[in-house]
Amino acid sequence: MKYVGAHVSASGGVENAPVNAHTIGAKAFALFTKNQRQWVSGPLTENNISLFKANCQKYGYLPEYILPHDSYLINLGNPEKEMLTKSRKAFLDEMNRCEILGLKMLNFHPGAHLNLHSPDDCLKLIAESINLALSKTKGVTAVIENTAGQGSAVGNRFEHLGAIIGMVEDKTRVGVCLDTCHTLTSGYDIKTEEGYRSTFNDFDTIVGFSYLKGLHLNDSKKDLGTRVDRHESLKKGVIGEGLFRRIMNDPRFDNMPLILETPDESLWEEEIKWLYQLVNP
Ligand SMILES: [Zn+2]
Ligand SMILES: [Zn+2]
Repeated sequence: MKYVGAHVSASGGVENAPVNAHTIGAKAFALFTKNQRQWVSGPLTENNISLFKANCQKYGYLPEYILPHDSYLINLGNPEKEMLTKSRKAFLDEMNRCEILGLKMLNFHPGAHLNLHSPDDCLKLIAESINLALSKTKGVTAVIENTAGQGSAVGNRFEHLGAIIGMVEDKTRVGVCLDTCHTLTSGYDIKTEEGYRSTFNDFDTIVGFSYLKGLHLNDSKKDLGTRVDRHESLKKGVIGEGLFRRIMNDPRFDNMPLILETPDESLWEEEIKWLYQLVNP
């Protein structure tokens, strides 16, 4: 079964996210558990926590289909000591928030080397950051997202994801989220039938489908290999319909959150419906 949803607003409190997801007919959702553009947010209150859990129960959202996303400011691969410490502290806070809310995953962009050290050293630092966070939390899986490779971001090659996982001590609490826009612009031609087949074969060999915890379903403004991260609404970008039809009919993507991060939220309800009608009876 497919669990399609969107990255919905948690404005006014995390408890509003499941309500917003229900409103658009989502079967899964993503959210920020704090302001994504600030380093520090106030702690979640007892009220936030109990209402969040109650609303998830009311609308039937299990933790398996909720994929929280961390702040954009965090760079777990920054070699500069002060910034690394700040990032690790903020990441731990994000993991703690997930734990408190009864959630099982935290989705994050691995990091960027900033031309201050090599990509390999950056991957090592990210793995060390994950190990630290996992050692101080319980029950939450660190879900690494593949990137477009914009600027000095790592995580644009499946080899990067595999290398990080290889260095994580607790393999039961590390996973991967693939973003369709990032996958295309980082250089994997998932638009064609043959490209789809070979890309996911490579993914299975290099990373392994057992580590796949979710997908971000986005069309892209930019084309193959441009390494630019610009999401587009479904059917309005360069990806077209075929990829989404293949995904919706591929059992390897069953039973995990499939999350829209497309730019026009007024289209989400329609996009979710469109994706479901792609499923072959
Ligand atoms: Zn994404
Ligand atoms: Zn993106």
